[in-house]
Amino acid sequence: MEQIIIVFTLAYVLVALCFIAPPREFVSAGLTVQNILSSYLGSEDMDFVGYHLRRTTSTLLLHSFLPLGYYIGLGLVSPELRLFNPARGGGVANVLLLVCLGIALGGVICARYWSWNKWSNHPFVKLLLKHGTPWRAVASSVNIEFCRITKFSSIIGGTSLYITDSWIVKCSAYKVNIAHQPDVHLSIIHAEDHDISHESNVAVQFLNIRVSSITPGVKPFVIRLNSTDYGDLREKLQAPIRNARNVVIHQSLSDKFLEAFKEQVSQNEVYQLQEGEEEPEPCIGCMQHPANIKLQKMCALSGEGECVPCYCRPMWCIDCMGKWFASRQNQQEPERWLASTSPCPTCRAKFCMLDVCFITR
Ligand SMILES: [Zn+2]
Ligand SMILES: [Zn+2]
Ligand SMILES: [Zn+2]
Repeated sequence: MEQIIIVFTLAYVLVALCFIAPPREFVSAGLTVQNILSSYLGSEDMDFVGYHLRRTTSTLLLHSFLPLGYYIGLGLVSPELRLFNPARGGGVANVLLLVCLGIALGGVICARYWSWNKWSNHPFVKLLLKHGTPWRAVASSVNIEFCRITKFSSIIGGTSLYITDSWIVKCSAYKVNIAHQPDVHLSIIHAEDHDISHESNVAVQFLNIRVSSITPGVKPFVIRLNSTDYGDLREKLQAPIRNARNVVIHQSLSDKFLEAFKEQVSQNEVYQLQEGEEEPEPCIGCMQHPANIKLQKMCALSGEGECVPCYCRPMWCIDCMGKWFASRQNQQEPERWLASTSPCPTCRAKFCMLDVCFITR
């Protein structure tokens, strides 16, 4: 009989843990709160704030019933404990029942309190109110930006991080943190190096970054992301990320190259826009930054070396040109990229890094 209790307890704890912090197998099998309740939760893309109000509340409610589920399951697998007959169950069983009922009741009360009066007591709504009133106006600004495909997103375990044009949002099981981008300072506080990630079988580094907001009442929170996403994160943020502790960041190969590429180009000759040459247009690669690069053969005299003059007008920004250059290299020999050449994306004239010139007027 004791064996049954132990086996049941272990199995229940295992399933409950998988439910609370789902491993990848559970997520791909759809066994998450989000999936089970998808019709009630609605679409995250259509109504981001409403979705997370419902998600955090129902997650809390479901999890609070797990201990009671254990009590009922235990009563079914070992009837001799008489768990369904509290008068004969004994002291330990009664205490267990009270604790399980208490946790479930606590969950119900909390969920009811949060959803009461059209969610006005939910901590997420209270946080939105710190950014403006009414909270629904702030919520609709968040919702609109969340729909844009340009947002940054990173999901690690049960926590997701989104960075839109003006918001930083971290969603965990019962809680949502949000901060307004122009009001935050970000600083790297810690890096965790893992030799092997069970998700991808390669060495990974996670960065913990503290987000502190100057908005009154918005508490600082820590976001966590894979260091290979660091370049994308920085691109999406308006403010620099402080690295006061000089944490060594294992950036992806392309991020590292891009940094070296920009460093070199900033030391190169600049290209003076001539009288009558039109204003730079948006970069045709990203459509976001102005085209600020002109290819000019500077590495050798004309007719010498492998590079060929390019007569294209400025069409690319430094980031896109760097990414293009990297994409034309032998991916197996990154140590040779800096000394290598690439064809111009438009006319195919060969150029090297010394021929990439910033435009000035
Ligand atoms: Zn660009
Ligand atoms: Zn060209
Ligand atoms: Zn050259």
